[in-house]
Amino acid sequence: MTTGTKTHCPYCGLQCAMTVTAAGVVGAREFPTNRGGLCHKGWTSAALLRHPERITTPLVRSEGELRPTTWDSALNAVADGIRRAQNAGGRDAVAVFGSGGLTNEKAYQLGKFARVALGTANIDYNGRFCMSSAAAAGTAAFGVDRGLPFPVSDLTGAGAVMLWGANVAETMPPLAGHFTGRLIVADPRRTPTAQRALDGGGLHLQLAPGTDLALALGLMHVAVLDGFIDREYVQRRTVGFEEAWLSAAHWWPERAERVTGVPVDQMRRAVEMLWDARQSDAGSYILTARGAEQHATGTDTVAAVIGLALTLGLPGRRGSGYGCLTGQGNGQGGREHGLKADQLPGYRKITDPAAREHVAAVWGVDPAELPGPGLSAYTLLDALGRPAGPRALLVHGANPAVSAPRAGHVAERLAALDLLVVCDFVLSETAAMADVVLPVLQWAEEEGTMTNLEGRVLRRRRAVEPPAGARGELWVLAELARRLGRTGFASEPVEVFDELRRASAGGPADYAGVSYARLDAGEALHWPCPDETHPGTPRLFLDRFATPNGRARFAAVAHRGPAEVPDAQYPLTATTGRVLTHYQSGAQTRRVPELAEAAGGMFVQVHPDIARQAGLVDGDAAAVVSRRGTVRAAVRCDDTMRLDTVFLPFHFPGAGRANLITNPALDPRSSMPEFKACAVRLEPT
Ligand code: SF4
Repeated sequence: MTTGTKTHCPYCGLQCAMTVTAAGVVGAREFPTNRGGLCHKGWTSAALLRHPERITTPLVRSEGELRPTTWDSALNAVADGIRRAQNAGGRDAVAVFGSGGLTNEKAYQLGKFARVALGTANIDYNGRFCMSSAAAAGTAAFGVDRGLPFPVSDLTGAGAVMLWGANVAETMPPLAGHFTGRLIVADPRRTPTAQRALDGGGLHLQLAPGTDLALALGLMHVAVLDGFIDREYVQRRTVGFEEAWLSAAHWWPERAERVTGVPVDQMRRAVEMLWDARQSDAGSYILTARGAEQHATGTDTVAAVIGLALTLGLPGRRGSGYGCLTGQGNGQGGREHGLKADQLPGYRKITDPAAREHVAAVWGVDPAELPGPGLSAYTLLDALGRPAGPRALLVHGANPAVSAPRAGHVAERLAALDLLVVCDFVLSETAAMADVVLPVLQWAEEEGTMTNLEGRVLRRRRAVEPPAGARGELWVLAELARRLGRTGFASEPVEVFDELRRASAGGPADYAGVSYARLDAGEALHWPCPDETHPGTPRLFLDRFATPNGRARFAAVAHRGPAEVPDAQYPLTATTGRVLTHYQSGAQTRRVPELAEAAGGMFVQVHPDIARQAGLVDGDAAAVVSRRGTVRAAVRCDDTMRLDTVFLPFHFPGAGRANLITNPALDPRSSMPEFKACAVRLEPT
């Protein structure tokens, strides 16, 4: 192992800086986002580098078994399968499913490979399940979507921070260390973050699952009528307040309390805390995450929270602000560089003729050759193997058999394919179903860049030699393209990044001025960075928003509630989320013994009275049943739980997959599934 290589954590969007040494990893104190801190996942991340379950040989299914083979024969099998599928069903008969864990270079190249080498419209990624609602609402309100339009260090010492559906004490502990003022946490559960808010004199708004939009409108109502509105800011820097108010005016606090369960006095105190901190030098922030987003009304919900922030005059102000916390390591970069069905590199729209012309010129193809928008993630997965749907799927770094909503159905669709190819470094549940598995490099074995939740571009560096037999995904894509008769696919990360810079130039997410040399020299570069003399843009919107008239836009939105409401048969609402020791589908963290041991197994968190009504006590084996399936879980009683809610973590496989029960009702604008609310019943197994 090479000693002392600076890189970043393989997991979440905070992208904590760390140094990989022969002994493991240490946090990098000089990096302002984590200031030397790492969470349990980060500290143990080196355990993956020499893991006994690492795949180091290509595998091809034969007589029902995955069997080792050579790279040549595996790649030939993939290319043959692609040709067969496209000869039978046309270009869109091959689909691609990417991941928010891929480097910018891999995300960019995968988008180009899909559109140029395969010529398919059908590419999307698991980031669709992560923050697509905030992206849609942020773009509509501010003209551009960058998770945090300010550096994390701006949050340090803020007087008040509202965390909406964000359990940062478990998901991003080093971020939680920046919060030293009052916390206001909106969450159906008393999470460790909510408990911390209460311990520090803040608030926990324990709303009913799926009522976030009503709560946001109620808080805006309180802000306006109690005089916590910055009228000068609203008039000078925004448009659309009157229409938004027409909607919020119907949400007087007592009505909001009836729907959400949050007491009126807590609503009043929350708004007052935010306002007082904004008026003082300390500053005030509102941050949203998956709890606000993962609803069939996710975009409207985030828009309503943004409406509250605009009413208080927070966005685009030094020392206060609004932002969205990105979940996956490169969820931000993935959607900026072409993994989304409707986007081209530089956060360009695939339907925009000028964008198509620019990117096609960089790729050396006719703009007319580029496909249009394809199917979004769940719709794509649901279409697999159907008569008019894709017959072949390439999966890169994702595990939809566990992470997609209605996962049992998605596994059936995957099984219906003629060809399933998975690029991964461990045999995830999806890889175990594949016809071909290609063993690729993991974080500390590869060079590249990631873009963290602040829009800061970071260098990922090779710290250890990869095992013989594993190959980089850029090489895999170049080899497949060659077999499909396409050239122009570089396999060196720096070459791909330089091409990405040209493709993004002039777009909303402009990386033209970011280079490996500047990053390696230690420059902190946040996009947009349009040329090599540009210092990058750590803070957006201080003078104007990125809309045509420079003003932020309020949205007039209405509360609709969850797509599936409890009834006599399914009387409870299930919500899903993460625990401290696991990341996403758990394919990586479940293989780290220390994390697996600390997390234990699948559980359902429930109020003891509700467990008792179902004939269950703490530790019992239970079934959580929805209209789509059944999850097996151990009962974990917690008297801070709402009486109408159960919680399930989504990291576990097999019969413990939380997504066996989740509802794939989609947000009409972002296509985000409703992971956060579905009707269930609890029963003994
Ligand atoms: Fe930091 Fe996230 Fe890694 Fe934890 S998982 S060390 S919070 S980047």
